[in-house]
Amino acid sequence: MPMDSSPNLGAYAGTNPNSNVLAPPPSPPAQPSNWTNIYATPEYRELSARRLAGAVRVPTVSYDDILPPEQDDPRWRPFEDLQVYLRKTFPLVHTHGSPQIINRYSLLYTLPGSQRSLKPLVLAGHLDVVPVPTPSIWQHPPFSGTIDADYVHGRGSNDDKNCVIGILSALERLLEGGWIGRRGIVLAFGADEEIGGFYGAAHIFSALLSTYRPNGIAMLVDEGGSGVDTIYGRDFAVPGVVEKGRTNFVVEVDTSGGHASTPPTHTSIGVLAKIITAIEDTPIFHPRLSATNPIYAYLTALSLYSNPAQLPSWIADGVQASTPAEFQALAEKFAAQGAHERYLLQTSKAATVLVAGDKVSSLDVRRFSNSLAEQAKVTINTRVEISSSIHEVQSTYLSLIAPIAKQYSLLVNGASPTNSLSASFSSSSPTTSTIGNITLSYGSHGSLHEPSPQAPYDAKSVAWTVLARANQAAFGPQVVTAPGLMTGGTDTRHYWNLTKNIYRWTPARAGTRYGAHDVDEKIKLVMQMDEVSTDEGF
Ligand SMILES: [Zn+2]
Repeated sequence: MPMDSSPNLGAYAGTNPNSNVLAPPPSPPAQPSNWTNIYATPEYRELSARRLAGAVRVPTVSYDDILPPEQDDPRWRPFEDLQVYLRKTFPLVHTHGSPQIINRYSLLYTLPGSQRSLKPLVLAGHLDVVPVPTPSIWQHPPFSGTIDADYVHGRGSNDDKNCVIGILSALERLLEGGWIGRRGIVLAFGADEEIGGFYGAAHIFSALLSTYRPNGIAMLVDEGGSGVDTIYGRDFAVPGVVEKGRTNFVVEVDTSGGHASTPPTHTSIGVLAKIITAIEDTPIFHPRLSATNPIYAYLTALSLYSNPAQLPSWIADGVQASTPAEFQALAEKFAAQGAHERYLLQTSKAATVLVAGDKVSSLDVRRFSNSLAEQAKVTINTRVEISSSIHEVQSTYLSLIAPIAKQYSLLVNGASPTNSLSASFSSSSPTTSTIGNITLSYGSHGSLHEPSPQAPYDAKSVAWTVLARANQAAFGPQVVTAPGLMTGGTDTRHYWNLTKNIYRWTPARAGTRYGAHDVDEKIKLVMQMDEVSTDEGF
């Protein structure tokens, strides 16, 4: 049972029927890293800031429409500059780490351990950053890498060059001291995480799979999680153990065009508007929670380890849930805390792109305003709750749209809506006369994936214990590591087959990562790295 000797121990410890879902904090707690004194010096702090700022100054932006690496799109050039910068800045990692360039712009390093039989640890990150649409409104130019008293400023300072530079800094420091780990360490830095990881992480995955085979990795840590924060009087570190699925649901309404002076009662744009309204107005998705959901374990951790005087009673009472109705009540209560909480437990639906009107790319409204739109199209970005599936989401949307299709005599995917409810989504020939068609599709360019497998966080999980110990070493012995859930995606979706121990963890205190990255937290990152790499736990 989760018990420790902390005076902060919650009053409910041991009484929760489901408390065995979560490993207790490692006890005795891990000691601070040997390097703490070095990392705490102003010199090291300044060195870390300079290294990060230097990386930020290389504008490695990945664009949605960037050409594949082999096609020499000049927008890939900065990734070569970044390789040069990293070689210069981290010479020992490059001497000892057998650097490999993967698909031109991604990087893979392998530092062998002394015991070859041990599976390696993979530390992942990404080299690319998202574009800057309006640089003029930035306090400091986005690629200036400005360092002030508290922050390194710039695009990428917080996502994800902080992780890449933190990992490399920790290893460079360890190698300076002649360190050789027992377990090998692999560094995997993709070049296109922000556009899906298909040129980077997907290729890194193939390379790792052919070297190590499925399940050949001990543990993989990538960016993510929600940092370290004080919650109800106790510090919690919350890495992501699972990621929601994702699909871009596209609804396209096609009707015959014609002159706007003699229109039908309902146009393609009008019908699409009704569909969008139905999707927004109908509560088709609800919060879900069960004993195996990490949010339940997270709430359990709050009930066990936070200050009982500060813990709300709905959590203390709610985690005693045993029936589906009790779990549902807890889910609703948690979701009611805010949008962030809600979408941890609930599939989201958001209309993000709307395209309609003939020759829609034209801005010449006058020229086309006389024509009926033959086509109107909306994208509903949908993040799939972890116990759901893309198939379930498809069925839900279809059941909402079928009655609308019927009402306006439209076919769904070329099939009669009454038949298509049970039919597959592949198109078939129209069977009845119709004035048009509604086409449903669920994503392209790899924008579609199921919820991820869930990494373990129970007492039997050695990897989880290592992570919890690393957090104790970096953030203090009082820190409780509790599982979290990711509403957004990471490169890890390409790595599922390598290990079940995939954790998304950017070790930083809450409130220190904005558009800029706090140098202090970078220091903590390298401490965490040190701990992860040297822990005897495996
Ligand atoms: Zn990122």
